[in-house]
Parts: sequence; C-alpha cells; structure tokens
Amino acid sequence: MKEIVLIKLGEIALKGLNRFSFEDALKKNIKSTLYGLGYFKVSIAQSTIYVTPKSDDIDMDEVCDRISRVFGIVSFCRACVCDKDMEDIFEKAPDYLEDALTFAKTFKVEAKRSDKKFPLKSPEICREVGGLLLEKFPHLTVDVHNPDVKVIVEVRDFGAYIHAGSLKGAGGIPVGTGGNAAILISGGIDSPVAAYMMAKRGVSLTAIHFASPPYTSERAEDKVQRLLKKVCRYAGPITMVTVPFTKIQEKIKDECEEELFTIIMRRMMMKISSIIAEKYDCSALITGESLGQVASQTISAIACTDDAADMPVFRPLIGMDKEEIVQISRKIDTFDISIEPFEDCCTVFTPKHPRTKPVLRFVRYAEEDAHLYDLIDEAVENVKITELRQSD
Ligand code: ATP
Ligand code: MG
Repeated sequence: MKEIVLIKLGEIALKGLNRFSFEDALKKNIKSTLYGLGYFKVSIAQSTIYVTPKSDDIDMDEVCDRISRVFGIVSFCRACVCDKDMEDIFEKAPDYLEDALTFAKTFKVEAKRSDKKFPLKSPEICREVGGLLLEKFPHLTVDVHNPDVKVIVEVRDFGAYIHAGSLKGAGGIPVGTGGNAAILISGGIDSPVAAYMMAKRGVSLTAIHFASPPYTSERAEDKVQRLLKKVCRYAGPITMVTVPFTKIQEKIKDECEEELFTIIMRRMMMKISSIIAEKYDCSALITGESLGQVASQTISAIACTDDAADMPVFRPLIGMDKEEIVQISRKIDTFDISIEPFEDCCTVFTPKHPRTKPVLRFVRYAEEDAHLYDLIDEAVENVKITELRQSD
C-alpha cells in the first residue's frame, strides 16, 4: 500500500506576505531532513505539503520520526493513498487501519471532502466507511465525542487519503526564516538546549566551540560534535568552528588576578565569537547561560560579558531552572551525551573564589594590561571547520 505524509500548514499559512518564504523554507528543511532515506517529491497544494516517496522501499517510520522534528509543523498525518473512488477506499481502509483499530475499543470516522465534485458528501462517506469498519472489526463501537481512534478520509484534488489521525509536529517556525546566529557550544547540558530553542524560533545556527588542548582532549571535542549532530535533527546542517583557546587561557592565568580569570575568559570568548559570527553572516550570539547558575552568570557578570560582544547576545535559558533545562535536554536526546565526563575549557584554571560582582571598568583595565588582544587574530586565523548533519 502506498503511503504519503500530509503536513497541514495551519499557523504559517496565515503569515501574509511572508507565507511563500515560510513555505519554501519548510519545503527545503523537509527535503534536507529526509536526506539519505531515498527520493521524495515534496509539493504544496491546498495549504498542505505532500511528502510522496518515489519508491516502495522507504522506511516510513523513520520519515515520520524525522518530520516530527522539523520546526514550523504543527501537525502531520501518515496516510494511505487511494484512488478517488469508494471501491478503492473500501478495499484499502480495513488493512491500512488494522493496527490502529485492533487494540481500540471505540472509533469514529470523519470525512474531509475538499474536492466538491466527489459524488458522495461527507456524511455519506463517514456512514459507508464507518459501516464497513464495524463489519470488519466487530469488537468496535462508535463514539463520536471521545473515540480511541479517529479515522479520517480526505478527498482532495489529487487523490483520496485514509489515516488514523494527526501526529504532533515540533511547532515553532521554519529554520532559516529567523536569521542566522552563532551558538557558543560547550559540552554541557545547557548550550545544546539553547541551540534547540533558538532554532525553534527559525534561527539558522553556526556553532562556535573553544578548545584548549592539551587541557581539553579530542574526546571532549568529539562529544561536542555528537551533541551538535543531535541538534542538527532539529536545526538542519550546522557548521562548527573550533577555536584554539589554549594560549589565551594560559595568558589570562599568567597575567590576570585569579578572581577575574573566568570573567575575562568569557569576555575573550565573546570578542572572538563576534568576529567569527560576522564572518559567517550571523547577527547574534547565543549562550546557554541561566541567571545565578554560577558566578559568571550573575547580573553584573553578564553585564561584563555582554560589553565584550559586538552584537546582541541571546540567552534563551536565562529564566529557567536546571530541572527545566534537563527536561528539554532529555527530550532532544542530548542529556546522556552531555553528562559524559569530559573537561571543558571553562573548567581549566578555575579560580577558587570567582568574583560575582565584577566592575566592568576594572575588568577592562585588567584585560588591557594583560595584552590579550594580540592573541585574538591568531585564534581566529587558526580555527578548524567541521560540517555536521544529523547521523543516519
Ligand atoms: P552548559 O552551559 O552548556 O551546560 P557549562 O554549564 O559547563 O555548559 P557554563 O560555564 O555554564 O558552561 O557556560 C555558560 C555558557 O558559555 C555555555 O552555555 C556556552 O554557551 C558557553 N560556553 C561555555 N564553554 C564553552 C566553550 N568551551 N565553547 C563555547 N562556548 C562555551
Ligand atoms: Mg551552564
């Protein structure tokens, strides 16, 4: 039996003049997420995107799984394709719905007849298909208010489709319609969640990771790549820029007051990230900071950090508890990777008593005295680029 995925545009269909760019981005993102699964036709008609496999051997479970993570989709249906005649619908419905109906107690049939030339009206389609299903699955009863399974028969311009109800989409808006931003990614729990949240608002991501070998290992970098590949399932392909940070961190350690190590390090991250972000056409930075989580995330520390950035810094987790962040990281399947015990550059040379209320003026003096700026260009010139996409 031929299957298809029908994606209802709902909210984004209403976006006025932006509608076409939203639809184009969504189509592109759907094609991209299905990469490697076979050939598909992705087309739009009647406020619905049709994802039609071009061969019979495609893993439709995997197709639906991937589509469920594409932002901009509120709901979608996996449906059986029928000819537009009742005979074909009658022939295919019982087999196609067998799995869904065998373990249900109640059901109802709904018809959506957008092809007004179809000879039967919606109530007649419901009655006939309902009657047939009752005959084939005698344990069922009809419940029009709260059925276990809602069987839907859609008669559209190009065909008829049967399915057992819609599946929930990822919500949000299509990646690529909200501009580009650079996510500062560590191997921790927070930054992959921050990346996910901004992608959900349509932002296309470039990732920046600071590595300090030999204090941080290749395995720590590999961990960040694996985290990003999970994020790619939602955000699409991501370019990862790895910045060599050892010299800067060593110089901070040698030249600066210990209590300011962290704040100055974070300012250097912001300065370097702003330069890289601009090169990659990004107009904002994203971090996984959350207010009060650690000494460098007090209001004064964040003000000092922000001062070093040349563009807006988005912190989508700022008001969230760790537990709430963990919940999302479990949902997006990054948690188990995040808790693997590899060191991040942030844990290199951490001060015993980091200053929680740094004064910007003094931090700037300390930074200037340390002659750190000479090292920025060198770091930017020696970045490593890795192109990442979701694993198969
Ligand atoms: P995470 O916040 O991702 O769980 P963490 O808690 O170890 O990791 P923090 O010290 O809270 O990291 O850092 C705050 C934010 O700074 C991170 O969310 C991330 O955006 C950024 N950051 C930290 N370390 C790095 C790094 N090595 N490379 C790039 N960005 C980093
Ligand atoms: Mg954190």
